[in-house]
This record gives sequence, C-alpha cells and structure tokens, in this order.
Amino acid sequence: MSDLQHLIEGYRRFHGNYFAAEGQQLFAELMLGQRPSTLVIACSDSRVDPAIVMDCKPGDLFVVRNVANLVPPYEKGGGYHGVSAALEFAVCALAVEHIIVLGHRQCGGIKALFEGIPEGLEGEFIKPWVNMANRAADRVRAEHPYATDDEKLCHCEMAGILVSLENLRTFPFIQSRLEQNQLKLHGWYFDIVSGAMRAYRDESLKFEPLIA
Ligand SMILES: [Zn+2]
Repeated sequence: MSDLQHLIEGYRRFHGNYFAAEGQQLFAELMLGQRPSTLVIACSDSRVDPAIVMDCKPGDLFVVRNVANLVPPYEKGGGYHGVSAALEFAVCALAVEHIIVLGHRQCGGIKALFEGIPEGLEGEFIKPWVNMANRAADRVRAEHPYATDDEKLCHCEMAGILVSLENLRTFPFIQSRLEQNQLKLHGWYFDIVSGAMRAYRDESLKFEPLIA
C-alpha cells in the first residue's frame, strides 16, 4: 500500500507557497462567505478535476462530483438525495448563474452503463446509479449503429451529459430560474487524450470546440 507522503508534501507546498503568498488573503475574503457564480457537476474520475481543467481559485466553483457526472431527475421522498441537495443549495442559496455538466472521454461510469459492468465487479451501487442514464445508451445505439465501439462510448459520454441537462430541467427551482433568465445550463465534454474541451450548442445540437 502506498502511503500519503506525496499528499502531505503537497499540502506542505500549498501551505508554504500558495497559502503564504496569496491564499491567506483570498481565504480571509472568502471567510465572509462563498459567492461562486458557477456550479459544476463533474465525474469522480481522478483525471478530470474541474478546478485544474478550468484553472480556478478557491471560491470560484461549487462542485458536485459523482460517477459519470450524472444528475438524477427531480424526486421527492425517501433516499439520500446528495446531488439534489447540492443543486438546491447552489441554486437557491448561492444563486449560481451557471451550471456546467462536465463529462469526459474514457469515462468508466459511462462504459459501465453502455457495456455493462464486468462480471465480478457488479457490486451493489454502480449499476443502478449509471442506469439512470439508460436513455443515453439507447439513443446512441439507435443513432450510431455503425460507429466503432470507441466512437459509441464517446457518443454515450456526450449523450449522458444531455440526459443530465434534461434532468436538471425537471427541478422546479431550476426551471423557474431558467424561465426568468437567472440561470444558464451548459454541457461540456473534456477529451483527456487531446486536452480539447467541447461545449454543446443549442443552435447546432452538437458539441463544438469551446475555444477556437
Ligand atoms: Zn467519468
């Protein structure tokens, strides 16, 4: 088993360099309260840290991370609605102006959704969680029957982002703010191989390069 020495050393650098130089002042301001303008829903995947990919500082992003960056539909009743609670806090209390669903290439959660979970690894929680986005897989099978397996997975990763965007709209407190132009939803897709970021465009109904 590896130890935590690299993380302890990382903290030492953070405290000695960043915190001592500029962080202390920033955290002193943030003590008065956080005011992030953006909520990001990202994957738990260790390779896709939103703050690193978007070069952000503490206080910039309110972040929810889970397997395959999924948003469940609005549901009341039993269950521990961790994503919904974070949405409610970000939208209703922090009044974020943007929600970005940040998907990525080579997503293990989407692979589990699309290809099924390898035998022996079924466990208890991953399958029902990723199956929430079953309609993303159904759409890819219907729309891209002749794509390669790798292309199908990429399509499914993007289709999963769209499912999460659809589910965001089922929350009454999000729908009302969308109607009043107080909130905007975005679907972004990060290619961890090339480093390219693409954004979904309502005009073309496609993911297009975020920057020229
Ligand atoms: Zn992922």
